[in-house]
Amino acid sequence: MSTFSLDPGADQLAVRDWLHGFAAEVMRPAAAEWDEREETPWPVIQEAAKLGIYSLDFYAQQFFDPSGVGIPIAMEELFWGDAGIGLSIVGTTLAAVAVLANGTEEQIGTWAPQMFGTPDDVKVAAFCSSEPDAGSDVSALRTKAVYDGAKDEWVLNGTKTWATNGGIAAVHVVVATVDPALGARGQASFVVPPGTPGLSQGQKFKKHGIRASHTAEVVLDDVRLPGHCLLGGKEKLDERLARAREGAARGGRGNAAMATFEASRPAVGAQAIGIARAAYEVALDYARTRVQFGRPIIDNQGVAFQLADMRTRIDASRLLVWRASWMAANNRPFTAAEGSMSKLHAGETAKWVTAQAMQILGGNGFTREYPVERMHRDSAIYSIFEGTSEIQRLVIARAISGMPIR
Ligand SMILES: Cc1cc2nc3c(=O)[nH]c(=O)nc-3n(C[C@H](O)[C@H](O)[C@H](O)COP(=O)(O)OP(=O)(O)OC[C@H]3O[C@@H](n4cnc5c(N)ncnc54)[C@H](O)[C@@H]3O)c2cc1C
Repeated sequence: MSTFSLDPGADQLAVRDWLHGFAAEVMRPAAAEWDEREETPWPVIQEAAKLGIYSLDFYAQQFFDPSGVGIPIAMEELFWGDAGIGLSIVGTTLAAVAVLANGTEEQIGTWAPQMFGTPDDVKVAAFCSSEPDAGSDVSALRTKAVYDGAKDEWVLNGTKTWATNGGIAAVHVVVATVDPALGARGQASFVVPPGTPGLSQGQKFKKHGIRASHTAEVVLDDVRLPGHCLLGGKEKLDERLARAREGAARGGRGNAAMATFEASRPAVGAQAIGIARAAYEVALDYARTRVQFGRPIIDNQGVAFQLADMRTRIDASRLLVWRASWMAANNRPFTAAEGSMSKLHAGETAKWVTAQAMQILGGNGFTREYPVERMHRDSAIYSIFEGTSEIQRLVIARAISGMPIR
């Protein structure tokens, strides 16, 4: 009997249909307005919270789905609805995953619910790692965390940039360096509780796409945090630092962070697939109905073949995303950086498919009367954040070659 299956199963299909309804009925009609306003769509997040789509329970359930495809299916549907609003809804999960991955049970229980708030009082959370001089090179972080043993407090100073929900979040998770000499292995993650003095929002960025998602600098000026805000606790950090120092002396390399990235990148790839599928569907409909030279434009092989390639690349991306998600859920080693592969392919596909869709819509594709123009702008971030396409290629190249490719 064969056990191989690409059937997501009844539960996941029910979730997909439920989210599709929300995406079609609530997100799509609101998409153009929030893109123009360039503001966080709080009423839409609240609506999602009331339905249980914006909640810790919902994401935890998808996160722990043994097939692995719960999260990619949810991401694809929400981002099919709209990417800017989608990121406003799921941006919190970046911070939540950092707490789930690094926090103690007590920390998870304390902070994760506060990140989402309640349906009557919704909150968002932010994950702050990137800095002006540390984007692709995460080992170069300068934000410093110093331990004040007398008070059992950590003191954080530095400037974070590009933080999704930065400054408007209830809870911020901040990655800081404790021992800069150890690079990425000398870093630790801290929870900054709501209302902590010293944390403020810097510049809010005006962006090319995903404009309904808030992106800003976060300034940390002598932010004092109780000891229990260090994710994982001090004992574990001290052990980890000691191991890293020993590893550094032997020239060893830590790979825990890499494994986490491989597991989270497929979710970002799934967001890109949602955008690509949305643009492809608009283009397919348009090509069937737009008449030139006395026949629908899809009657021309030149147009029909473009659509065939769009669909093929979208489906190939989904298979890569599902494979990597399944591998993560089943603890398979990412020997060829399959997580990075899925994000690379899906991100580049979204950019390419949305550009093709604009072409198929002709002049209409270039206007804000039709959604593909927005989808094209939104897709552009997928070769930049969560590791640029070049960084994904670097990770894949190192994994397949075993060489320290630079
Ligand atoms: C809208 C948005 C939201 C974001 N949200 C968050 C968030 O919530 N939290 C967070 O911490 N960060 C976030 N980021 C930051 C994002 O992850 C970084 O922008 C990204 O990692 C790239 O860093 P950088 O912008 O400094 O580019 P750089 O690292 O300066 O890269 C510039 C160019 O050089 C290339 N390059 C760099 N190094 C190499 C190399 N070794 N080989 C080949 N090419 C290379 C890059 O691929 C890129 O094309 C967000 C960014 C944006 C734009």
